[in-house]
Amino acid sequence: MSVVASICDGDASPQGEQADTSASALEGARVREGCALVTGASRGIGAAIACALAADGWPVAVNYRADEDAAASTVARIQDGEGRALAVRADVSEPGEIERLFEAAEGELGRVLVLVNNAGVRRDDLALSLSDEDWTHVIDTNLTAAFRATRYALRGMIRARFGRVINLASIVGPRANAGQANYAAAKAGLIAMTKTVAVEVARRGVTVNAIAPGLIDTDMTADLNGELLSAVPARRAGRPEDVAACARFLASEQAGYVTGTTLYVDGGLSA
Ligand code: NAP
Repeated sequence: MSVVASICDGDASPQGEQADTSASALEGARVREGCALVTGASRGIGAAIACALAADGWPVAVNYRADEDAAASTVARIQDGEGRALAVRADVSEPGEIERLFEAAEGELGRVLVLVNNAGVRRDDLALSLSDEDWTHVIDTNLTAAFRATRYALRGMIRARFGRVINLASIVGPRANAGQANYAAAKAGLIAMTKTVAVEVARRGVTVNAIAPGLIDTDMTADLNGELLSAVPARRAGRPEDVAACARFLASEQAGYVTGTTLYVDGGLSA
């Protein structure tokens, strides 16, 4: 099952020897009939999640907005490990683009059975001077796009009586962070949406969960200073692969009774 496990740094190959268990066999069937779609998978956490899901055999649609070369490199990493992947350009903050994204992914790879709403942006400013444009852009990208994608995906998942929706939230939202009123509102909204939709579809074999990362070493956090790092009990920033391992679990057959929850991946920062 873990055909491309070796391409993902830090991959622990949890399936490994257990490929014959009934849960794994079921997962194999899912993989044959559907795919995973990861938004914002050209770089950072999204790219690591795309690789981790490919390691479990999922064909993966690698969404990106602008960085075509980075998306191509995520696809190449998956294909080098004998996985299937397709790069799909779409700006998820644009209402019509979600439908086009799903049509492109499903036309090539089959029904989306795992949706990872990962695409996200920051546009920080103190509330006193935060512009309408920066408020709206962050809410549209981080929250509204996840809602639209989830609404689109649920129909197919319910028909398949199997689905996994994973929303990338943040410790910011549940916790305050000055200068991020827009980002915090979006991420807290994602957690609330996760719980509500999870309850709505729990009887249908579809789970909906959130992951709340702390400080993860990606382009998004490149400008943050060491002050935040010194507050992390683990005394290090997380790696994208730390988050991807959790997404991989939440996407698995074995996580079928885990729904409506938020998994904190933050080195103890929110403890
Ligand atoms: P990143 O390195 O900045 O990567 C962001 C990704 O999102 C890129 O692939 C980018 O694509 C894509 N993206 C942005 N806007 C998009 C849009 N409108 N449509 C489609 N794709 C779009 O970010 P990251 O650190 O990996 O973060 C991933 C997620 O985790 C985000 O939701 C973020 O809020 C959350 N998170 C991150 C941290 C952290 O410490 N890094 C902590 C908590 C939560 P292009 O490059 O192609 O434009």
